[in-house]
Amino acid sequence: MRFFVSQDNITEEQVIITGEDLKHMKVLRLEPGDIIEVCDGQGWDYSCRLLEITGDRALAAIVTKGENRAEPKVRITLYQGLPKSDKMDLIVQKCTEIGVARIVPVTTQRTVVQLNAKKAQQRRERWERIATAAAKQSGRGRIPQVGPVMSWQAALTDAQELRSQVGSERFGAVIPYELENTVFVGTVFRRWREQAVLEVAIFIGPEGGFAEEEVTQAQDIGAHSVSLGPRILRTETAGLITAGCLLYEMEQ
Ligand code: SAH
Repeated sequence: MRFFVSQDNITEEQVIITGEDLKHMKVLRLEPGDIIEVCDGQGWDYSCRLLEITGDRALAAIVTKGENRAEPKVRITLYQGLPKSDKMDLIVQKCTEIGVARIVPVTTQRTVVQLNAKKAQQRRERWERIATAAAKQSGRGRIPQVGPVMSWQAALTDAQELRSQVGSERFGAVIPYELENTVFVGTVFRRWREQAVLEVAIFIGPEGGFAEEEVTQAQDIGAHSVSLGPRILRTETAGLITAGCLLYEMEQ
């Protein structure tokens, strides 16, 4: 069984488990002597032996510590045009499974959904729960950060900050656009592999797609407008496929 534990609860020798994870351990009827996997959410995994389970905490001794192997080298941020209904749940779950580092819902010109502050916060908490569960299930070493919901302009600025953090040689951005018919996504990703790009921004439009002006604005900050092929993909498919193609290219 695998648990994410904050670094504050991990010392050189021991790990303390509380809250929901403790409840879960009780449901599973774990006992002293059982081995559990603990991840600090910062890329380190621990194999631990349970020492005791009391009312408010479980204590485990660290047996081995190792770097998590499931984290991709490339850090992908998906800027996802906020879709309708609960499609974002699926996007968060699947993108976490495949290895996306960060998911930022974005309101664009053609976004239909309007979230007030309260709703946006509730949704964010829900997405965080989904990301945590998916990260546990898939053995991720980090829980992807989800949100906050950003405006299109804020998303562009955010991506530029990523570029200045790693330097332009190690940064890449793409905006899949169904009207693009000369540049294919694979061509760009193969180049990035040779460049050993470390930080990637992917911009995906909502159901209605991007306005032409938005594509130009993304190009102005250095994003490549790319085709994902001759079929139109749904918004919840497009980001997953783009990230999947990138990981395929980078993890060979
Ligand atoms: N408005 C469009 C489809 C939008 S699909 C229409 O109905 O015709 C939602 C998003 O998925 C798009 O904004 C784009 O980012 C991405 N997308 C879907 N299919 C694509 C393709 N074949 N090539 C590039 N991007 C695509």
